Amino acid sequence: MLSTPHVLVGIFLIDRFPNICGLVLALLSHFLLDFCIPHWNPHLYTEFKKQGKISKTSLKIIILDIITAIGATLYFMSLKLPNLSLALLYGLASFMAILPDFVEIPYYFFRSKSVLLKKYVYFEHKYQAGAGVFWGGLIQILIGLAALKSLLTF
Ligand SMILES: [Zn+2]
Repeated sequence: MLSTPHVLVGIFLIDRFPNICGLVLALLSHFLLDFCIPHWNPHLYTEFKKQGKISKTSLKIIILDIITAIGATLYFMSLKLPNLSLALLYGLASFMAILPDFVEIPYYFFRSKSVLLKKYVYFEHKYQAGAGVFWGGLIQILIGLAALKSLLTF
């Protein structure tokens, strides 16, 4: 799943459970969303296996997605100011929500040869609940909007 819906769900969870439980839930939500909700992603794993690198289109999508995710995180962190520790907790929850993808960066971008990392990347790839671009994109938009709506209306 893209980073933006992951981050919004993570922030939603920390908003409901502003403590260590919220952080753990944010982390677990990543796997739950990836493995249980059919979604569309750029096909990094396949591109990397077939072409030895990620396509320019996928890279553009990733960059745009990450900018949106960082923007959303900074926005919700700023709403908690001047309570700096709460703002940082929101930032940390956002990070926990994308940590499972974040750890794959050395594999895709720095050609890490770590066997453990390779196994992990394969595991994350294998159990993804895949869907086509339309429905798989729409469901992510809906998840993001649902999280946003509950964050902005409470
Ligand atoms: Zn993931």
